[in-house]
Parts: sequence; structure tokens; C-alpha cells
Amino acid sequence: MNDFLAQLRAVVGARFVLTDPASLLAYESDALTLFRCQPAAVVLPENKLQVAACVKILHQAQIPFAARGAGTGLSGGALVPAGGVILAMARMRRILEINADGGWAVVEPGVVNAELGRQVAPLGLRYAPDPASQTVSTLGGNAAENSGGPQCFLHGTTSQHILAAEVVLADGRLQTWGTPTTFSDALDLRGFLLGSEGTVGVIVALTVRLIPSPPSIVTLMAAFDSVATACASVSSIVSAGQQPVALEVMDQKTIHAVEASVYRAGLPKDAGAILIVEVEGVAERTHKDAAAIEEILRQHNPMRIEKADTPAKRIAVWKGRKGAGGALGQLGPDSFVMDGVVPRSKLVEIMDFVYEIEQSTQLNIANLFHAGDGNIHPHISYDARNAEQVEVVEDAGTRILRKCLELGGSITGEHGVGLEKQHLMAEQFSADEIQIMAALREVLNPQNLLNPGKGLPMKRGCAEAFHRHHRSAT
Ligand SMILES: Cc1cc2nc3c(=O)[nH]c(=O)nc-3n(C[C@H](O)[C@H](O)[C@H](O)COP(=O)(O)OP(=O)(O)OC[C@H]3O[C@@H](n4cnc5c(N)ncnc54)[C@H](O)[C@@H]3O)c2cc1C
Repeated sequence: MNDFLAQLRAVVGARFVLTDPASLLAYESDALTLFRCQPAAVVLPENKLQVAACVKILHQAQIPFAARGAGTGLSGGALVPAGGVILAMARMRRILEINADGGWAVVEPGVVNAELGRQVAPLGLRYAPDPASQTVSTLGGNAAENSGGPQCFLHGTTSQHILAAEVVLADGRLQTWGTPTTFSDALDLRGFLLGSEGTVGVIVALTVRLIPSPPSIVTLMAAFDSVATACASVSSIVSAGQQPVALEVMDQKTIHAVEASVYRAGLPKDAGAILIVEVEGVAERTHKDAAAIEEILRQHNPMRIEKADTPAKRIAVWKGRKGAGGALGQLGPDSFVMDGVVPRSKLVEIMDFVYEIEQSTQLNIANLFHAGDGNIHPHISYDARNAEQVEVVEDAGTRILRKCLELGGSITGEHGVGLEKQHLMAEQFSADEIQIMAALREVLNPQNLLNPGKGLPMKRGCAEAFHRHHRSAT
């Protein structure tokens, strides 16, 4: 043990290898605190060569390891089993190149999503994927999870905005997959990496697509008496052929939590739900589209429709929406933020089911979701010290995801499978499909050292390596 730690210290410097229990505490879970496991050490490399050298040492010593960005993941992804090592990307935060003409930038994996946006905005450019966690989550974590966000309804998820990735394989080899300038007919290794939840390589650089900032944006906020009406209006907008950039719903519990927090945005507290619709493009077009959408919204009898027609108002609305996850933290000591998908036409049905679950379990469930993508995020507040309640929470989560599958959807839209959803993989995918995924992964991660136990169903006994919160909390 001490031997490999000494070697890691020699690579990154002693103060960048953390082993004291107080420091390790911060790395024992991600934002899904249902799972916890303290690593043996956390290593903070400064550059890609240090990452490669560390991985070689870990490979040689046969120590399991995982990369970690900001730890905002919501499926238990950035955890290692006891004895394992976390490679934290917090020191790899450089934007290495911005090529405004080519429409791309090269970044290190620890660059925070919103920071890239801030740096390219003066050039009239932006990086489109905007997870609600974008003020803290990293581009490496976003790529590993293929993260979505409000604007991804129009622009697509992270994988559509990563042109190339430089990656350290499980044995320490450095590879570059993809290219910013040309397309290839060969097997898309870049695509295989994105969304693989850190199980096929450690991303050490990304070439990301930058797109022009829109000349005009119009944001509408419609207040409805119920979530069902808000969802029905979403279907009407899309089936009318409109292509807004974002279609986001928040229910009353979420609105109240936002208004009681530092993210308060003047949202209507009497509404059963609000729908935020944003359109972008050239001014003439956006105003025309916004007027057409307003017309559709009126057919669903909204309580009112407001236009966020100044940058300040628009920023306030989005601050409220993107801060909602944090604001909901007030509702209980612990949160379980779920992630499931249904066809958009089934949104009303799945939300009715979520409210039935809330009624029958007496759990405190708030809802905010990417309605355009049919991507729901029931937010369950609970107390992890209450083991019985934890069982109820986990069971409710499983039932909601099973209902998503029954309605033709998926167990994950953007948070990944991680540790959380493994037990449902075999309900979404056939045994053959799972075997093919495992075989493909094995080519790049043959000894299962790289982020073991994530994504695909674990062998019997492996799950015990990661303690459920209620077991370790006693
Ligand atoms: C309040 C809140 C709101 C959120 N909103 C959204 C949202 O709108 N959309 C969305 O998609 N998600 C959302 N999330 C989930 C989370 O923010 C995303 O999954 C995000 O991409 C994780 O980034 P991170 O840097 O925190 O990664 P981490 O949590 O540190 O890691 C996530 C996974 O990526 C792997 N990883 C990290 N860095 C690397 C690397 N360099 N190389 C290889 N693998 C790596 C880890 O091993 C782990 O498996 C939200 C989370 C919170 C807490």
C-alpha cells in the first residue's frame, strides 16, 4: 500500500496525495448520498502526463481508481470501493486553446462548464450544453455522463458538442479520439467514450464545439393551475412544429422552495406549475415564434403568461430554474434526485403516477424537469437516519423508473446508471445487449480497475463494496 502511495507522491508531490480521513470525507460520495465509500487516497494531478504516470502506477499495483470532477453526479459515479484511489481533476482547469474561426476550444477536464461560457462570450460564442449544475460541474464530468440541460432540447446533449477527447487508458496509454476538423468513417471511439461514466478511460482534454451566440432570445413563463396542463401545453407546442431551445416545467413545491431561497426569481407562488419556454435566433423569427407559442399556450388556459423581455428578467428566471435543485435542499436533510425518461406524449401519465406515489408513501416529492425531452427529475427529500424511510425512498424510485419503462421510456436521461440504477438495467436491456456492452468495455478496461462496478450490473457481492447510506449511517 505505502509503496504505490510513495510512487504517486513522487509524481504529483506529497501535498497532492490526500490520505487523512478528514480530507477523504469530502470524496466518500457524490451528490447521491445514498451510496458512500471512502477511498484510500485522493490524488490531484496537474496535467495529462501526471495522470498517465499515476494510472500506470495504479495499474501496476492493481488498485481500482476513478476520475472525479466536481462530484455533482447524481447516480453514485465518482466513487471507488474501499482501498481504491480517486483521481481528482480540480487542478486541471486550463482552457488550452480557443479557435473562434474554427468554432472549437480545447479544455482540460476540470474546467467548469459555465467558466468556458464566460470566456467565449466576448467572442460572440457559446458552449451549448447547460446542465443546471453548470456553475460547478466540470466538462470532464459532463462528457463522462453525456449530460443534458435545458438548452439540450434544441442543441442536443454533451456528446453532440465534443469533437475530440484525449484520454488515458486503464494501463496508462494516452490516446486521442476524434478531431476538430474532419469526420471519419472509422469506428467512433470518441462516441464510445462519451457517456461511458468514466469506465473506459480518464479524459485529460476535450475539444468542444462552440456555436454563435443567438442575436435574439425570447423567454416566456406561463403559469398553469396544474403540472398536467403545463405538460399538455408542451406536447401542443412541439406537435405544432415549433422548435424552442428549452421547455422546462417546475411544480408548485419547487416554485415555493425557489422563492424561499437565494435563487428567488419572482415566480408565481399561486401557480400549480410553470412552464419556461425559450426561443432563439434572428430577432424577426424569434418574435414570430414566440407569438405563435403564446397563442398555443393560451389554448391551455394559463393563469398568466409573462415575457422575460430584458436580460435581467431572463437571468432571474434561469437563476430560479437552475438554482431549484439547490433550493430544494431546504426540504429535508437528504435528497434523492431521480432521472427517468418517457415519450413526451406520456408526460401527464408519468407525472400522475409520481403524485400517486407521493400520496401513497407520504414522501415529500418535488418536480422540475426537462419537459421537452420527456426527462423527469422527481426530487425526493428524506432523512437518511431513518432506515425505514430510506427503504421507502428506494422502492419509490424503482417503481417510478419501472413505470418509465412501461411507458416506453428509459431509466436514465442524463444522470447515468452509476451505482443507483444497475438493478434496472436488465429490465431495459436484453441479456445479449448487456453482454455486448460488457465485452466492449472489457477491451479497454480488462481488469475492471477503472471505475469498477458502475453502469453495468455488478457481479454478486460487488455491490456490497459500496455501502448504502442507511447501513453506514448507524
Ligand atoms: C443541483 C444539480 C443539478 C444538476 N442538473 C443536471 C442537469 O441539468 N443535467 C445533467 O445532465 N446533470 C445534472 N446534474 C448531475 C451532474 O451535475 C452531472 O452529471 C455532471 O455532468 C457531473 O459533473 P461533475 O464534474 O460533478 O462529475 P462527477 O460527479 O465528479 O463525476 C461524474 C462521473 O464522471 C466521471 N468523470 C469525471 N471526470 C472524469 C474524467 N476526467 N474522465 C473520465 N471520467 C470522469 C466520474 O468517474 C463519474 O463517473 C445535476 C446535479 C446537481 C447536484
